[in-house]
Amino acid sequence: MISYEEALARVLRNARPLSSVRVRLEDALGYYLAENVRAREPVPLFDQSAMDGFGVRASDVAQVRPDSPARLRVAGMVRAGDDPRRPVRSGTAVRIFTGAKIPPGVQAVVVQESCEMAGGEVLVRESVPAGKNIRRKGEEIRRGARVLSAGARITPPVIGLLATLGYSSFLVHRKPRVTLVVTGNELVALGRPLRPGRIRDSNSHALAAALKDTAIEEVSVRRIRDDEASLRQALMAALQDSDLVLTSGGVSVGEYDLVKDAAVSAGVRTVFWKVAIKPGMPNYFGVWERGCGRGRSAGKGTSAGRVLLFGLPGNPVSALVSYHQFVRPALLKMSGQRTPGRFVFPAALEKDVGKRAGRAEFVRGVVRMNNGALNVVPTDQQGSHTLSGLASANCLIHLASEATLVEHGQQVPVELLSWERHG
Ligand code: AMP
Ligand code: MG
Repeated sequence: MISYEEALARVLRNARPLSSVRVRLEDALGYYLAENVRAREPVPLFDQSAMDGFGVRASDVAQVRPDSPARLRVAGMVRAGDDPRRPVRSGTAVRIFTGAKIPPGVQAVVVQESCEMAGGEVLVRESVPAGKNIRRKGEEIRRGARVLSAGARITPPVIGLLATLGYSSFLVHRKPRVTLVVTGNELVALGRPLRPGRIRDSNSHALAAALKDTAIEEVSVRRIRDDEASLRQALMAALQDSDLVLTSGGVSVGEYDLVKDAAVSAGVRTVFWKVAIKPGMPNYFGVWERGCGRGRSAGKGTSAGRVLLFGLPGNPVSALVSYHQFVRPALLKMSGQRTPGRFVFPAALEKDVGKRAGRAEFVRGVVRMNNGALNVVPTDQQGSHTLSGLASANCLIHLASEATLVEHGQQVPVELLSWERHG
């Protein structure tokens, strides 16, 4: 059995950024850049006023004190969008607004709160140095400077920046196509009648929902009975059409736990099976090289390359926690993310937690601010099958493999659940 850290390292080593595609700015949110972006123009594009006020020559206001204002003739007005050409001479000022182009001769802008209009003149009661309240051409971004690097996530401000620079399309990494293969003879699709001994399939819905929060192009779901031949068939088809295949159930050591054997017989190379974690010990991870495996040539729209297969345990909490800890980082890396975006921070444990040494635990918890400090408390239901315990959690408390009793008051690393990052 390998450690959580080793398993995650192997996953990330095998996950590669997908090929690049051009997207339009309006479709780009949530993608990761596949190219460096340079400024074709400076930002700001021209010297402009940072305030509403009066554009002046610095020497005209150098001697000003509140009780002895400068009296300047107002020679004109410049609004945002105007292109002022007439130079402003000594003894005159120009009414100017935020974002307006600085006319020739203007060396500073005095805010309107320090000025008083008097007929065609303005009384300036503040002495400002040259450059005051002027945004200089190129002061934020020089022409030719690298503004964004490949791997940057396209967020709303990044969209704004790209629009500022005039980019209406650019290269991003393609998002992964994912197939979800759900195994289990006991499973009944939602809306179908339950018979004794059967349960509803919840993992396909929960995992499909979790996938939505990551960068995903397309998710398809298949339900398969616990039969090795059907499972192998389903896996072979899924591998052909996907960048990543997720299975649920059938990876422990029971007689009907067939995923690992079916994967191997479909041509998947096993990278690990079983990780020293709770929940989610019987995790399977393997890699299939498209073109090397058995089966047809590359599927529709998929290129040659590597397909990752994750065999997640069927217990609903194990499945989602394993998804969160292994699959999501892989999907993000495939989508072009350069540095894993985990959000782990310390919080004080509110009660003692006992555990067995030898495996890392991801305890479902609620983290909250309490008198200016972060506290975390485990939820009541901690079973691998008790979804209610995960549903009421907002974080996973990481307890180290070697730890046994972790006492209240201790600082523990806490990771926000990705689907809790809102508001
Ligand atoms: P398995 O990993 O196949 O041995 O399943 C472990 C436990 O998870 C069993 O109690 C299964 O009935 C349950 N289980 C497996 N798959 C699902 C699913 N898709 N939805 C809900 N429960 C499941
Ligand atoms: Mg099963």
